Amino acid sequence: MSARQLHTFRGGIRLDPHKRETQDLTSRALPIPEKLILPLQQHVGAAAEPCVKVGQRVLKNDVIAHANNYVGMRLHAPSSGLITAIDEYPVIHPSGLTAACIELTTDGEDLAPELNVADDLNTLASQAVYQRIAEAGIVGLGGAGFPAHVKVLEGTGQTVDTLIINGVECEPYITCDDRLMQEYPAEVLAGAALLARAIDAATCIVAVEDDMPAAMNALQSARPERIELVSIPAIYPTGGEKQLIKVLTGREVPSGLLPIDIGVAVLNVATVVAVHRAVASGQPLIERLVTVSGDVSEPGNAKVLMGTPVNYLLEQFGIDDVSEYRILSGGPMMGTEILNLAAPVTKTVNCILILRRELAEEPASACIRCGDCVPVCPVGLQPQQLYEATRTSDIDLAQDFHLFDCIDCGCCAYVCPSQIPLVHYFRYAKSSIEALDRDRAQADLARTRYEMHQRRISMRLESGPAVGVELADVSGLETNELQGDIRAAVARSNQRRRDDNGI
Ligand code: SF4
Ligand code: SF4
Repeated sequence: MSARQLHTFRGGIRLDPHKRETQDLTSRALPIPEKLILPLQQHVGAAAEPCVKVGQRVLKNDVIAHANNYVGMRLHAPSSGLITAIDEYPVIHPSGLTAACIELTTDGEDLAPELNVADDLNTLASQAVYQRIAEAGIVGLGGAGFPAHVKVLEGTGQTVDTLIINGVECEPYITCDDRLMQEYPAEVLAGAALLARAIDAATCIVAVEDDMPAAMNALQSARPERIELVSIPAIYPTGGEKQLIKVLTGREVPSGLLPIDIGVAVLNVATVVAVHRAVASGQPLIERLVTVSGDVSEPGNAKVLMGTPVNYLLEQFGIDDVSEYRILSGGPMMGTEILNLAAPVTKTVNCILILRRELAEEPASACIRCGDCVPVCPVGLQPQQLYEATRTSDIDLAQDFHLFDCIDCGCCAYVCPSQIPLVHYFRYAKSSIEALDRDRAQADLARTRYEMHQRRISMRLESGPAVGVELADVSGLETNELQGDIRAAVARSNQRRRDDNGI
């Protein structure tokens, strides 16, 4: 184990870890569900575009939706079967709204084509690594859902001196990364070495919390070469990117900047294993480890196919009556309540947590200005001021108080004696502002289009009738830009008329 000097980050709290219930239990394999529901949006970035039709047969690992753009993400069939619908389905989201999904009815045969195995990982160019990660549809499996290939490409485009593999699961109950490191330590280290070479990082660290001794032992037994294994104190939220960087390097990521801007790349340990499988074996991301824990008699971790309905997963753990429970996706601090259990497990779901309602719910009362929320904030915000700003919908004030630096860790709400659900206010305010920004951007775009349209009409009026005009008729216009616009419009109009006339 490395003797690296560790630093502290501001704020944070010590929580009852609740890890013992699951961290020593081998992960289970589950039967293939009859239906898999695959949301087209499972990551930060544009939704994927289906490339299959209803009624089409697919094999396991087949691409069923393409990435739409650079930060887009492919989707693959997690098993073989028939595409039976492309429609709206419940998804895990605080709004409880539905989203576009592909429904795959499995055939139980799990037939798969041969995978594209890499010849030699040691000679694979960075571009090839990037390409194989993108083709495998890998997002950050720690919960953020940022496309992994984009992170790697940014890493190859900028100077990165330190690659941190985040094996810190600081949320209580969640042990899927702990189990992954215990069960697949060689893949963790091979993936870390592969990524460090691809982004040319001189230092590569795998960070593990000090309450995961078996994971650390497994990694040490796998004989890491040129990779530091570092055990760090279990203080929540050490697993946050910026907090982990501070602990391991002493560096601060300034507000508004990313780790890459200070020469650090951070990838979750499960993401690294998925990257290794994609690059070495051509294996797309179709399953992940998920912790099922909380107020249940037989908690554990399971290998879960993407698209598995949450109610199916609960059944496999012997949970059928959930009327007295809250079911969360994620941990108790940052998790999202699942409002419809037909919603599927997606790439970013690391835990399904079952909490008895009477334990989980406390009535909120007014803020008594005790200030307890201030010293625990790991970002150095003033949560009580943010609360006042968001409660009164004062968007400008909330942004002045750095609302968007809030990492939703929930430390402030955890210590609040008034039981105010502070994070709910902050999340709601952030999503409202983002929606407002999107609306404004769309309105600006519509206004620009309208103005261009009006300009074209007035130019046409000046230069004669638009319908049937030939390209030569617009040659006298003032600017090349307008000429180009009108030429294109006239060409489209002429083509439409030719099409209409069957020419
Ligand atoms: S939820 Fe936001 S405001 Fe509250 S402690 Fe965490 S970072 Fe600070
Ligand atoms: S901890 Fe709660 S009651 Fe105390 S100042 Fe913060 S928001 Fe108000």
